[in-house]
Amino acid sequence: MPRIIFMNDRLVPEDEAKVSVFDHGLLYGDGVFEGLRSYSGTVFRLDAHLDRLWASARAICLEIPLSKATVAKAVNDTLAANKLSDGYVRLVVTRGAGSLGLDPNRTTNPQVIVIADTISLYPREFYEQGLKIVTAATQRVQSAALSPRIKSLNYLNNIMAKLEGLRAGCVEALMLNHKGEVAECTGDNVFVVRSGVLLTPPPDAGILEGITRNAVMELARAAGIDCREATLTRHDLYTADECFLTGTAAEVIPVVDIDGRIIGAGTPGPVTKQLTTAFHALVRK
Ligand code: PMP
Repeated sequence: MPRIIFMNDRLVPEDEAKVSVFDHGLLYGDGVFEGLRSYSGTVFRLDAHLDRLWASARAICLEIPLSKATVAKAVNDTLAANKLSDGYVRLVVTRGAGSLGLDPNRTTNPQVIVIADTISLYPREFYEQGLKIVTAATQRVQSAALSPRIKSLNYLNNIMAKLEGLRAGCVEALMLNHKGEVAECTGDNVFVVRSGVLLTPPPDAGILEGITRNAVMELARAAGIDCREATLTRHDLYTADECFLTGTAAEVIPVVDIDGRIIGAGTPGPVTKQLTTAFHALVRK
């Protein structure tokens, strides 16, 4: 069954959902995006995703030609048109078609695209047994060069690190910032548990401030778990009691091996399991 795509102002069959070869989203990765999820017909934290999309767009001087309310409706309409109550939504805003030069002022018509699809999670055994990850040699790009807080269409930095992970037989890879501190994984934020305290790198470590990350921090605090942002090194990860990743697609996923070091007992830990259960309850609420 062909999917139904929202393009700018209407729903169209996927065959008709096309962008120009002159679109700067294609030519330069000039644009922004979001990945969202719907659970039982409700999009999880839609407003937070729209706020982050608008913040990313503001940072690159891209004016989204629709209101947040219109885009919110487009997200829900696209899910409904594809009969998806549990699905994954990709929201994309490109700079639009222009000349072959970089100049964003010479583009017209930013494209607002909503794609809804089924979600392909990691296999269940990864959640039950935990992931093995490696540190990528590719550093997270410095904020002074391009802020990782912008969720832009240019994901090559993360893709380079992802390739390293895949070559090492891992589905995720850890990325450090230019100071050698832990930043995040290629598409997920990272947490550790040490002596009952939950720690995660702060936004200025060079991370995308994940919506799942923020939800998990709130859940931890509500459960009375001490939760802090802290500068972390690989040593902190290697010697942690527990480690897990968070992201819209992955949700909460345990990590049990980093660069060949077994984390904690080598199995998903109690705090990870508690927060996973709390997260599942939250998204279905
Ligand atoms: N970091 C990066 C680089 C990401 O691409 C993502 C996924 N959007 C995340 C972290 C997790 O963010 P979220 O929980 O909002 O999906």
